[in-house]
Amino acid sequence: MFLTLHAAVGALIGEEVSSPTLAFVLGFIFHFVLDLIPHGDEDLVKGYQDGARIKRMVSVATVDAIVMAILFFIFYSQDFFFQPKVVIWGITGSIFPDFLIGVHEITKIKILDKFHDLHYFAHNFFFERFHLSFTKGLIVQLSIIIAIGFFLLSYFFV
Ligand SMILES: [Zn+2]
Repeated sequence: MFLTLHAAVGALIGEEVSSPTLAFVLGFIFHFVLDLIPHGDEDLVKGYQDGARIKRMVSVATVDAIVMAILFFIFYSQDFFFQPKVVIWGITGSIFPDFLIGVHEITKIKILDKFHDLHYFAHNFFFERFHLSFTKGLIVQLSIIIAIGFFLLSYFFV
């Protein structure tokens, strides 16, 4: 699932709770809840793990990270967040699982083996039953991102 979507939910959590620690923990937990939703990148991840589609996975992840950074910068620099500090912790918690997966991917560090398995257990849980193509998954994810974006903006304009 896109980091942008995880981050949007993390930001939403950061606006809803007042403690940075709670925002981080909830963001972390919600990462797995969101990954349960079939979102169309399961084939991409599989292709990546097989070694067949490494370039595609890396380009998608790079564009995703850049979009996330730009959106965050816009929201942050325009003072759209009521609790910017808590929002940052919510976002950090919400993208932290994928950061750990990245560390595991690069270092193959043993400590993270179980975490890696748990992450992909959630990620692929509904995959067999509700298989979405990348394009359909993209539409689903973009719709959720836009909805959350409007929701975050609505705090500001009310
Ligand atoms: Zn994930």
